[in-house]
Amino acid sequence: MHELSIAYDVIEQVEAAAIRHGFKKVNQIHLLVGEWSGVDVEALQFCFPEATRKTCLKDAHLLITCKGLTIQCLDCFELTPISREQALACAKCGSVNTKIIEGKELRIVDLDVD
Ligand SMILES: [Zn+2]
Repeated sequence: MHELSIAYDVIEQVEAAAIRHGFKKVNQIHLLVGEWSGVDVEALQFCFPEATRKTCLKDAHLLITCKGLTIQCLDCFELTPISREQALACAKCGSVNTKIIEGKELRIVDLDVD
């Protein structure tokens, strides 16, 4: 399952941080998940308690913030927020010469630790 490997990735990062910063237990973890990252947030929430059972993230509260997609036009540099059904075109000049600058990320934004 894809979300389980994502959970293990996150755990690995947190455990590395735990060693670096010397904390033993995480009370809450806050993840930022881009709408276009391909992560199924519900599936991630579901597998998280099992995946973290033997780690410093045991019983940690998983908080997930979803981030929408934003593209930048490479012709006029306008930023355009995009909904799922919309084409990836610039709102200002209509160009499809764009790049995705937000919405595909998955990262840890905050950890509440003991
Ligand atoms: Zn444009």
